[in-house]
Amino acid sequence: MIVKLNDHASPAAQSAILEALARQDYTTRRVSLPFGDFIVGLGDGAGDTTTLAALESVAWARRGAERAVLAAIDASPTRTEVPLGRTSIGGTALAVIAGPCSVEDRDQIRTCARFVAAYGATALRGGAFKPRSSPYAFQGLGHEALEMLAEAGKTTGLPVVTEVMEPGEVGPMAPLVDCFQIGARSMQNFPLLREVGRAGKPVLLKRGPSSTMKEFLLSAEYVLLEGNPNVILCERGIKTFETATRNTLDLNAVPVLKSQTHLPVVVDPSHGTGRRDAVIPMARAAVAAGADGLIVEVHPDPARALSDGDQSLTLAQFRTLVEEIRPVAEAVGRRVEATPVPNFGEPRTSGRRRGTGWGAGD
Ligand code: PEP
Ligand code: MN
Repeated sequence: MIVKLNDHASPAAQSAILEALARQDYTTRRVSLPFGDFIVGLGDGAGDTTTLAALESVAWARRGAERAVLAAIDASPTRTEVPLGRTSIGGTALAVIAGPCSVEDRDQIRTCARFVAAYGATALRGGAFKPRSSPYAFQGLGHEALEMLAEAGKTTGLPVVTEVMEPGEVGPMAPLVDCFQIGARSMQNFPLLREVGRAGKPVLLKRGPSSTMKEFLLSAEYVLLEGNPNVILCERGIKTFETATRNTLDLNAVPVLKSQTHLPVVVDPSHGTGRRDAVIPMARAAVAAGADGLIVEVHPDPARALSDGDQSLTLAQFRTLVEEIRPVAEAVGRRVEATPVPNFGEPRTSGRRRGTGWGAGD
């Protein structure tokens, strides 16, 4: 049960609400969000909204067991803009989060960061802890990678987005991370959602490959319930019968979610397709559908990537992506803020041995 308080609810009125919820067998919690103060009843209570709605200082009372309430569009009078680095996600400017699937070494992430920053990225992604289908596949470099990522972010001025897989890692990772990514496989890891909710940093929540939009919003609700409004929803493709693509990028989710929630929605055309040749067309389509941004995998030498090379754009292709989404963004009343640095140089992407470096035009 979620009870929204009117502004300036007196302590006496709040006590009456807490007592009424307790009488209905709820345990109670106060939740303060930018769009309102709430008293929430947790557990299997009586569900009597009429009695609660009649109390002093109650704006409304809604049952939450079946659907998201705090994440629902009518919970907030305005769309949520999630602050990230110098920009925010959910306003007119599109977010462009780019970087490798995994942080592989210092040189790889530095090079990637320099180029994507110059070509128009607004945030740097890179996995340190990788959820791989096979336990034998590269699992990420862990904490060492986080430091490399944070350094690359600092040097380029880009905030960093990286996946956290375990609740116990949220605290130790927090000083090095600007935005926690919750991987698709973790969308319903509820202890993890609660923990990133408490950490207070922006959360990029990926849709589970077999999850409905309703379940997706209920997962976002877990984070909001901890008092953290800064959730970015990410459509990254769902499981279907199709085998020509890694997943089926469900662009239906963009307009449908945006009609149901005030939270921003970004699209990941890399995991959504699994194919480099489909990433730019689907990025354009996502922007046309009204996405608030993109998250894309970019690698200085995709053929040598330790994970997701087949779907990673080259640095030059990333520049093309930014150029190609710009007119689409303008056609739908959005803008791509970044101005690519002119003559930044072409990356060298072939014939490199590991550890020999990628140069900007050298
Ligand atoms: C990733 O972003 O590299 C990743 C593992 O994504 P997802 O959780 O969507 O599969
Ligand atoms: Mn990946």
